[in-house]
Amino acid sequence: MNDAFTYNGGRVDPGESANIRYGISETYLGDPVRIPVTVINGERPGPTVFLSAAAHGDELNGIEVVREVAHDWDHSVLHGTLVCLPVMNVPGFLAQERYLPIYDRDLNRSFPGREGSTSARRMANQIYTNFIEPCDLGVDFHTSTRGRTNMLHVRANMERDDVARLARAFSSNVIISGEGPAGTLRHEATENEIPTITVEMGEAHRFQRRLIDRALTGVASVLAEFGLHRDSSVHWPGWRTVIDTDDEKTWLRADAGGIVDMKRGRGALVEAGEVICTITNPFKEEEDIVTVEAPFTGLIVGVLENPVVYPGNPLCHLVGLSSDTLTALERERTTETSRSDLRRKANGPDRE
Ligand SMILES: [Zn+2]
Repeated sequence: MNDAFTYNGGRVDPGESANIRYGISETYLGDPVRIPVTVINGERPGPTVFLSAAAHGDELNGIEVVREVAHDWDHSVLHGTLVCLPVMNVPGFLAQERYLPIYDRDLNRSFPGREGSTSARRMANQIYTNFIEPCDLGVDFHTSTRGRTNMLHVRANMERDDVARLARAFSSNVIISGEGPAGTLRHEATENEIPTITVEMGEAHRFQRRLIDRALTGVASVLAEFGLHRDSSVHWPGWRTVIDTDDEKTWLRADAGGIVDMKRGRGALVEAGEVICTITNPFKEEEDIVTVEAPFTGLIVGVLENPVVYPGNPLCHLVGLSSDTLTALERERTTETSRSDLRRKANGPDRE
């Protein structure tokens, strides 16, 4: 028999699930700030896994991933416990802003939080002690910052075997290895022996169905790998590249201010020397056109969406690929193209 899941003021017994509105702070009016939490406690023993989203209040894709896992999936034979936190930064979510509107604090630099500290750290502390600390592992969902987009990828400290197992189980094509900044949920939970990965997917302020479906496949694969859902299986993404700290990767930055004509999108494969974008002034004067080329052959993991830059603003996040990965990716792209050509012929233009 599984254990009861307990948090400050409540418990969820084995075989039960609960939708909880848990108070983590108070507003200027003295009303509670409550975060939604769904705890699904299986009858059978197994790991406790958290799925969290919207630590940044305008990053919406993960909210839908967590909601669908919590409320649309069948967990009748769950081994272990799921702790689902679809909206952690409630004040930011209400304002549709990245940060906590209170002094623009970043909730995702405030973990694990502390009692008697700043408002952000107190909120982080409430979330962390009640719903993260009891877990064995976790997945925290993010999107790119407003005005940019990224392809679905995992960020994880691949030097730790337990984290690497989780990262691989999520079955993304791209894993970027690193510890992550101090104060992020991923960094702090991992330091605290709760292996945690971040999933980056798409852009803020949107639900992007294809990315959400891809992430749901990742969650199903993680639940299979760790034995929570024993009838599903671990998914292999077709190709995978793990970008280490010393591998080729760079944020290409604008050296001129202006209006950007981006030639390639999220997930595009670009050749060394290929033009990624041009930057022009309002008059489109030939002599002032700045051309930005790829410094090496690689994959565009993140890219500007809002087409305006000051010098120094990021244009795109380019990561280098090994020749094996390049071959696998090119093979996949060729089959995908022919498949989508067939579909287009049958259904007209693709809709996302
Ligand atoms: Zn984020």
